[in-house]
Amino acid sequence: KDAIISEGQKAGQSNLNQYQGVWVFAEQREGRLADVAIELLGEGRKLADQLGQKLAAVLLGDEVESLAGQLFAFGADRVYLAQDPILKHYRTEAYATVVADLAQAEKPAIVLYGATHVGRDLAPRVTRRLRTGLTADCTELDIDNESGLLLQTRPAFGGSIMATIVCPNHRPQMATVRPGVFSKPEKVEGRKGEIVTVPVKIAEKDIRTTILEVVKEAKQGANLEEASVIVAGGRGIGNAEKFKLLDEVARLLGGEVAASRAAVEAGWLGPERQVGQTGKTVRPKLYIACGISGAIQHRAGMQGSEVIVAINKDPNAPIFTIADYGIVADVHEILPILKEELARL
Ligand code: FAD
Repeated sequence: KDAIISEGQKAGQSNLNQYQGVWVFAEQREGRLADVAIELLGEGRKLADQLGQKLAAVLLGDEVESLAGQLFAFGADRVYLAQDPILKHYRTEAYATVVADLAQAEKPAIVLYGATHVGRDLAPRVTRRLRTGLTADCTELDIDNESGLLLQTRPAFGGSIMATIVCPNHRPQMATVRPGVFSKPEKVEGRKGEIVTVPVKIAEKDIRTTILEVVKEAKQGANLEEASVIVAGGRGIGNAEKFKLLDEVARLLGGEVAASRAAVEAGWLGPERQVGQTGKTVRPKLYIACGISGAIQHRAGMQGSEVIVAINKDPNAPIFTIADYGIVADVHEILPILKEELARL
């Protein structure tokens, strides 16, 4: 611990007050902002207002300047813009160098990243270069009124407790947040801000990775993050065959079918349809949980849903603690009735 503290001090972190402002890494792909970047701007705005400081977005890519307007509209006061053909596709060394150098020069108090494949790769690299700390997969962020520290809450010990983590001796305070944890802020068209152009000093020879070809993953059909209705099944459904009824109900509602980890592990549905701490985080308008107990790890992925309906034969199932509507009954009796009624509409 002492070695880490002295390393931090060597890195010039003894005066923490010079670190000001909240940053959001504005992840984009092919000129489209990732939804999580927009969600983080909403959360970043709240944190910046609590601190009375500015919110900045850090935008890297090739010819991505046109995205700045959106970043302002979603709450950024400033956009740090690093544009260069070398940044066209995400590559660890190039992106980590630009973000870490910029943070070293500008000294933000807080930097937030989406816990996407890119954010999960980038954030630890930047953390190491800045010799600071990182809290992965936060589910809640807040500012401690007394100390001004970022309170970073995330599940710990396999999700059995929620831990609040602080980074008292190093800056920036850095966190990743999974897509869908926060909702998107309102867009304020025409909101203006300042663009700061960041010089890109890295050369191709400094980067050990070359992109030969980009192969796009075939769409798996499931887009749970964007579905407005999700009908999810758990162990209580019983087998893969019986999941077909959930699928039919989901289709009648214009939604998607999803599963708890127990159902995925039983092989009844593919892992791309798992909701929860180790699956997807969703926030549909309607979430119907069928034969799902509502373990904390499952709730972590769906408790942001607007309306939750639970069907479970156990009246003490934890899912009922967060359900807006609860049906204590055998799911195999309720689903056929639901299907029939929906088909009649
Ligand atoms: P069960 O807990 O077995 O519940 C089945 C429910 O169905 C019961 O409440 C029962 O009353 C009800 N039931 C049974 N028959 C019927 C019937 N005929 N009609 C109505 N109700 C019926 N879980 C996830 O879902 N997602 C995750 O991402 C996830 N990540 C995890 C990460 C870690 C590190 C760990 C340790 C666990 C994780 N889990 C996750 C597992 C989680 O702890 C639970 O084990 C899991 O969610 C249970 O799934 P279930 O509710 O389908 O099954």
